[in-house]
Amino acid sequence: MIKPTNSVVRQTFLHQSLGIEAYPVERADVPKFIGTDLYVGGLVRKDIGGLQPAKLLAAMIGLVSSSTAVIHENTAVLGSTSEAGGVRIRTQRGEIFARKLLVCTDGYTDGFDPWLRRRLVPVRSRIIATEPLDREVMDRLMPPRMMYGDLRKLSYYYRPSHDGSRILFGGRDGSTEGDSAAPVAHLQSELARLFPELAGIGLTHSWFGYVAMNRDMIPRMFSRGNTVYATGYCGSGVVWARWLGKKAAFKILGDAEQSRSAFDFDAAPKAVPFFNGKPWFIPIVYSMYARHDRKMLLRRLKG
Ligand SMILES: Cc1cc2nc3c(=O)[nH]c(=O)nc-3n(C[C@H](O)[C@H](O)[C@H](O)COP(=O)(O)OP(=O)(O)OC[C@H]3O[C@@H](n4cnc5c(N)ncnc54)[C@H](O)[C@@H]3O)c2cc1C
Repeated sequence: MIKPTNSVVRQTFLHQSLGIEAYPVERADVPKFIGTDLYVGGLVRKDIGGLQPAKLLAAMIGLVSSSTAVIHENTAVLGSTSEAGGVRIRTQRGEIFARKLLVCTDGYTDGFDPWLRRRLVPVRSRIIATEPLDREVMDRLMPPRMMYGDLRKLSYYYRPSHDGSRILFGGRDGSTEGDSAAPVAHLQSELARLFPELAGIGLTHSWFGYVAMNRDMIPRMFSRGNTVYATGYCGSGVVWARWLGKKAAFKILGDAEQSRSAFDFDAAPKAVPFFNGKPWFIPIVYSMYARHDRKMLLRRLKG
């Protein structure tokens, strides 16, 4: 929940510093964008859009297939060692030697690289999909059929489905194991808090995956020996990973000009204390974030 005044500040920053087109939405205009009483204003950013990730992946696989590159599915990397002139990589199906290794395992980083694993916290992100809604309901709740997100620490992101007939509502899952019904029920109640008329609405789908958070929440590429890493997208890797992966590839090719980036760091993200792959602290962090969000909400309602 953000105030229009904050939106104006953000708009100015986005425009002046980054050249991004954006405009603030005053309280009276909120219903033109979203049918909820929860927000007192907002910001429309013209640089953000939506896509179907499966189609993006299919297109990328098509590009790889039409080149000389080879994809080896179902071949886990078990470990790697930097040696003179390259990296020795042990996989489930044998050993290879490469001049460089590019690691892009983000929230799925497993024991093959314990050093990296201590630096990336895997966090579950989950989406629920409502059953098809009447057109008038969609017209009222999401008039322009845009992509939406809020600025809470435990933020939600949501959108109409590609055909505009249902709502896909996503957020941090909170669970660390199993496929519990509780995170689905929680998202469902948050959806109803945003759109009270959807209380009790049927869901047709729910799914989750892992995103990687790091201590400063900044995605980056960095190197260690002959291994280059592009990772830590903090939940926005559909956008970031394509771009940073390309920069990292240019870095490996030795193209200083094309690989130049403010996100090319000398140092890796700092290791997370007392963490070696099992994010035992997530429930604690989530309750701190929830308390923070509640405090911010109260402060803004008062002010
Ligand atoms: C529900 C949900 C909603 C999301 N919504 C958005 C969104 O709206 N916008 C956005 O920008 N991003 C979004 N994301 C985040 C985005 O999906 C990720 O940030 C992105 O997929 C990261 O891309 P990646 O290629 O770096 O890693 P991933 O897509 O996570 O792929 C990592 C790969 O590494 C492989 N791997 C791991 N260890 C090994 C090993 N030892 N050997 C071999 N392979 C290994 C894994 O199998 C996996 O295929 C969302 C994520 C989820 C789960």
